[in-house]
Amino acid sequence: MESYKHILLAADFSDHGVAVATRAKDLADKYQAKLSIVHVMDNLLITDAAYGSTIPFDLDLTAELMAAAKNRLAKLADKLAIADDCRWIETGSPKLEIIRVAEENKIDLIVVGSHGRHGFALLLGSTANGILHHAQCDVLAVRLYDK
Ligand code: AMP
Repeated sequence: MESYKHILLAADFSDHGVAVATRAKDLADKYQAKLSIVHVMDNLLITDAAYGSTIPFDLDLTAELMAAAKNRLAKLADKLAIADDCRWIETGSPKLEIIRVAEENKIDLIVVGSHGRHGFALLLGSTANGILHHAQCDVLAVRLYDK
């Protein structure tokens, strides 16, 4: 089996994200692979929870959220020593955008977190589930446990 050459970390900036980022970084080091990072600003998610608590809710919300997201992405990417040209911020559906970025950049492994939902939440589907079923490349779902 060939080793991975280009790994994509899907970062949602949640509390659990550290575990996912650590696993992606470990794998990139192990395989001596390039590591990229993507964050998608979900159009439907009008909340500042993921980006910090200082953002005023006004009509310029999108620009402010984008700036906050860029800031968080830069901090995480710096920590993981990810090159500037391997950092992606997109808007739209997280599942679709993560898959698109993966395909356009010849990613061979996507690393996501997975909460292992049950019941109704499972029926609605999750980002991890969507990526797992639609990505052309390998997907690693890092199991996340609620604290
Ligand atoms: P969820 O389905 O929301 O529980 O998210 C599962 C995993 O999908 C997260 O741990 C991330 O790895 C990834 N993910 C979810 N939302 C986003 C997003 N907006 N941008 C990038 N990755 C995401």
